Amino acid sequence: MSVEIHHYPCAACGADLLFEPRDGFLTCPYCGHKEPVPESTEQVAEQSFEQHLRIRPEQMAKLAVNALEVQCQSCGAKSIFTPPQVAGRCEFCGVQIVAQPKSADPIITPGGLLPFCVTQQQASSDLRQWLSSRWFAPNDLKRFAEPEAIHGIYLPFWTYDTHTTTDYTGQRGEYYYVTETYYERDSQGNQVQRTRQVRHTRWYSASGTVTGSFDDVLIPATLSLPSDRLAALEPWDLPDLKPYDPAFLSGFKAQRYQVDLQQGFERMKEVIAPSIESDVRSDIGGDEQRIDSLSTAYSNITFKHLLLPVYAGAYRYNGKLFQILVNGRTGEIQGARPYSVWKIALLVVSILIVVLILVMVFRQQ
Ligand SMILES: [Zn+2]
Ligand SMILES: [Zn+2]
Repeated sequence: MSVEIHHYPCAACGADLLFEPRDGFLTCPYCGHKEPVPESTEQVAEQSFEQHLRIRPEQMAKLAVNALEVQCQSCGAKSIFTPPQVAGRCEFCGVQIVAQPKSADPIITPGGLLPFCVTQQQASSDLRQWLSSRWFAPNDLKRFAEPEAIHGIYLPFWTYDTHTTTDYTGQRGEYYYVTETYYERDSQGNQVQRTRQVRHTRWYSASGTVTGSFDDVLIPATLSLPSDRLAALEPWDLPDLKPYDPAFLSGFKAQRYQVDLQQGFERMKEVIAPSIESDVRSDIGGDEQRIDSLSTAYSNITFKHLLLPVYAGAYRYNGKLFQILVNGRTGEIQGARPYSVWKIALLVVSILIVVLILVMVFRQQ
């Protein structure tokens, strides 16, 4: 039995080919030889949620046969990579990883990914520009300007499709107006009678069923980055998903999912809840709605495990963790903006001095 090793030696010089975001080819970093990523005829398929809840071994696989996995001793994130890539610095907390990589454990196979199309060089230079436009940032932040400060890593996501059937009970409020009489004093001080329209609400009980259909609800499967920052990287061009191939991993890392399939689905319920509630409200109708009970059944659930490309880096400043993310498709940068107390104090003092000088000048005139 032959074992397929996901290893891409250069046909010209034998070095390892790496995925090149500029043209999407496997490229030799030494002699420039290029080979296309093996063409896949497969579609990025939806997988049955029910069938994966009790996972059978055949549904799990390694990202690549020769994939290694290492866990950050500081934040616990697990990264998967293939040689010649090394563990290096943790993209999420900035700590140098000293643990010995082991052969990667199987995971639910990714259905698809978006390959990197921004190069590390481009991401780093955009990041330098982004940093230099932030005068208040502490000088230490300039450490992000080093070319090795960020690294390409595929982040894990789930997407879910589901039909929903929601039974509800509630109340429909309809407005009606009543003419009220009241008295007030006019400008001469005489009491006069006036009328006004006053709005009231009459409530009727309501109940019913609404159905919904949700497609590709994207849920991060990483806990290493704040969800608002991940959300800020959207939108992802999901229609351009490629079927997973280990060749895309060559030269990059991938993070192992920290949110499992079931937990991701629970999170998805929270994400779609406002949309279901709004459907219920429009089904109730009227001018105002009250929802007393709401129960949703989910059916035809399918999912995909996706890997999406980012350049990520982290470092600690004054004991606080700062993380920078660059969208590997669009180059968009998301990051915390620490402020230097000294720089702000200096600015405030300078403004005060100017104001003081102006006051003295005006006094003398
Ligand atoms: Zn070569
Ligand atoms: Zn870490």
